[in-house]
Formats: sequence, structure tokens, C-alpha cells
Amino acid sequence: MHMKTFEDVVGFHGHSCPGLAIGYRVSLVALKTIGRRARDEEMVAIVENNSCSVDAVQVMTGCTFGKGNLIFRDYGKQVYTFIKRLSGEGMRISVVWAFPETDEEKRMWDRYIKGERFEEVLRVVHGRKSKKTEMILRAGDDELFAVTRRKMVVPDEAKIYASLRCAQCGEKMMESRARVKNGEIVCIPCFET
Ligand SMILES: [Zn+2]
Ligand SMILES: [Zn+2]
Repeated sequence: MHMKTFEDVVGFHGHSCPGLAIGYRVSLVALKTIGRRARDEEMVAIVENNSCSVDAVQVMTGCTFGKGNLIFRDYGKQVYTFIKRLSGEGMRISVVWAFPETDEEKRMWDRYIKGERFEEVLRVVHGRKSKKTEMILRAGDDELFAVTRRKMVVPDEAKIYASLRCAQCGEKMMESRARVKNGEIVCIPCFET
């Protein structure tokens, strides 16, 4: 199978952005070191955020939520870990790159995140975004990442769970997600209402 390109990633995600570029570059490092795109579950990715970058990781590495070899840890960090199941060979990629923005870009970005959508703000924010994306795509691996490699413990393989039927809405859920409410087995949405 030939290597996926940044265009493939943009096609999947819907737009080009700095986060996607980061995920693309992270994946290239992982594939270079840890091995080929995962057809099955031989490679596991652990991502510590759920931003745009994770879409690139899924397309490039073949580690996906659906296959269960993409694990999300909600730490809000730009850290990506890849582990080869058979050997336990692992690498942790932490993003260290910082965008060298101009004072104007910083000022306009601050206004943008406060909700301002004036023409002058949008123009700068747009330019900032594509400039940042370009810089990430062109930067060296060393400028972008701090990488550590070591043996790692692989999380459990994707399991097939038994399913139960919710006593309230009648829909099925995974056994491990069932809750008990007033002595009945219910799903989480019914449990919480
Ligand atoms: Zn995006
Ligand atoms: Zn229910």
C-alpha cells in the first residue's frame, strides 16, 4: 500500500489546518520508526487530545476508533504514543514546536477567541492559520517533536462485549456500559435522566 499524502488527510478531515499538519507529521515519524500503516491491530496509538490532529493520525497510521487501536486519553496534551503490539516497542512523541507569531497576529488572535469577527480580524486570523500550517509541514522533526523510545505495556486488545437491553428505552448497549436504576438495567442516557 502506498503512503497516504497530506492531500488524503485534508480530504478526510474537510479542511487544511495547523492541527492536521501536526497529526500528519507525528504520523510520518511514527511510520518511519514503528512501521507500516496498521491493517489490523498490530499498531496501537494513544492520543492525549481529540483535536484535528487525530483525524490525520487515523488516516495516516490506520489506528482508528472503530478498530479499537486508537485510544483517547483526555489529558488535553499534544502527546502521541505509538506501540507495536508484538514487540512492545513504543515511542512517545511530544510536540515542542511553538509558532513564532507577530504582535499583530497575536493581537488579532486574542480578539478572535473573544468572539470578534470583524473583517480585519478574520483576514489576519486566516493568514496566520495557513502560515502556521505551512511552517509545520516544512519544519524539521527535531524542531517539532521531543521523541522518546522504550518498551511499553500495550493496553488490552479491542474486546467484543456482550450486549444487554435497556429496561427503559429498549435499545441495546455494551454490558460494560450498563447501569442499574431503581433495580432495573438501563443505558447511560436513561440512567442520567
Ligand atoms: Zn482542522
Ligand atoms: Zn435506555
